[in-house]
Amino acid sequence: MALETLLKHVVIVGGGFAGVGCAQVLARSGKVRVTLIDQHNYHQFQPLFYQLASSELTPSDVGFSLRKIFRKLPNVDIKLAEVNAVEPKARSVSTKEGQHYQGDFLVLAAGAQANFFSTPGASANTFPLYSLIDAERLRSRILALFEDADRDAKLIDQGALNFVIVGGGATGTEMAGGLADMIHSTVTAEYEDLAVSSARIYLVERGPTLLAPFSARAHDYASNVLHRGGVILKLSTAVNEVHPGHVVLSDGTTLKTRCVIWGAGLKAAAIATGSGLPQGRGGRINVQPDLAVEGFPGVYALGDFANISGPDGKALPQLGSVAQQSGRWAAQNILADIEGRTRTPFHYKDKGIMAMIGKNAAIAEVGEHRHELDGVVAYSMWLGVHLALLTSLQVKIETFVDWVWDYFSRGRGPQLLDRSDAARINWHEDDTETEKPGAA
Ligand SMILES: Cc1cc2nc3c(=O)[nH]c(=O)nc-3n(C[C@H](O)[C@H](O)[C@H](O)COP(=O)(O)OP(=O)(O)OC[C@H]3O[C@@H](n4cnc5c(N)ncnc54)[C@H](O)[C@@H]3O)c2cc1C
Repeated sequence: MALETLLKHVVIVGGGFAGVGCAQVLARSGKVRVTLIDQHNYHQFQPLFYQLASSELTPSDVGFSLRKIFRKLPNVDIKLAEVNAVEPKARSVSTKEGQHYQGDFLVLAAGAQANFFSTPGASANTFPLYSLIDAERLRSRILALFEDADRDAKLIDQGALNFVIVGGGATGTEMAGGLADMIHSTVTAEYEDLAVSSARIYLVERGPTLLAPFSARAHDYASNVLHRGGVILKLSTAVNEVHPGHVVLSDGTTLKTRCVIWGAGLKAAAIATGSGLPQGRGGRINVQPDLAVEGFPGVYALGDFANISGPDGKALPQLGSVAQQSGRWAAQNILADIEGRTRTPFHYKDKGIMAMIGKNAAIAEVGEHRHELDGVVAYSMWLGVHLALLTSLQVKIETFVDWVWDYFSRGRGPQLLDRSDAARINWHEDDTETEKPGAA
């Protein structure tokens, strides 16, 4: 019998920070064989999606081939497939393509998806930013709007240059800053006939501040940077309805727009529903301190897919570093299971929180004591912490060079309008009969 069939088999769903971190530690131990299943053939670097959407970076800067990552680890078998059912008692999954994978251990690291909180029209009429494809679609929509308005200035009155970003967390704030940079640099320089000064970016946040987990100083810093970039902040305001050509806000205002960017919340990836596993806040799978799921021997849930408690009993945030560290920790606990050792409770090493609000404008609260930094120093911290999330030394070096070049050069990435599904805008759809007085 081949040696590898004697090894314990671990099935991992999801090649994000958690799944890749887990697979790398398991594979390097040489004690297991791993099947890593993902619906894409690449690992996605979500923290830079807003730069892809605002034409600053290219897809290859934020998506990395899973087969390349594991090329030197032959005990990891990559499968490109979409899991559509989880059978946790059997530690197995089924895929849309018709395969079935069963392991001695099942690791669920399928991440998250946009949560529209039942907002009417949001699912159909907004652009979420949770996958590389989302970011490409959004980039195409933004570019299409500039092109349409450049061709026909009358469309500006229909909201062609109004961008509404929902959610003032890190995703929304970074997207607002990136879009403002794009408008001030590329669009102003390259669209000679377009009334660029008509462009409006609205950032709508239900709570009273942007970047709620940060300090009051950071709230002010972010607001000031965005204000200087021309972003209109609508705090303590919710988006109540989204239509193909306008949104309705909780203060009664109607904003005409053909581009609503949804960064307002997350819930667990779809396969959590119906899995029979215990679900908590955001539909995420509740795990024990050792990251295993109670009542389901051999099943672990990690990263954005799981509710992982911190030392104060509160759930840890959905961050790349939490996901990566939980993946590596779960791998050690699986090896402990195999070797008959006791599993250990997950300890998260908190590196802090940070956000980039535009060129030369970042904020960071570093380490468990939240030492506050901003500007270029914060950008450098951001770079260091996020480079650590990358999967190999070669990728780290290549990406570092690309990021620094992009950051200091005045050019932008290719502004390709390559997603015709997102770029095609039906200007006759919606609006007039539903329009309310006071429209922008
Ligand atoms: C726009 C944005 C900006 C962010 N910025 C930061 C930041 O600056 N710093 C930070 O630390 N964190 C940031 N985050 C959060 C961070 O990216 C996530 O916490 C992290 O990616 C979670 O890792 P994960 O492995 O749990 O899930 P993911 O990275 O989401 O990976 C899940 C994987 O599962 C796959 N999958 C899902 N469903 C299926 C299925 N049915 N079948 C097969 N495969 C499936 C997906 O394709 C994906 O590859 C950001 C997130 C977003 C969206």
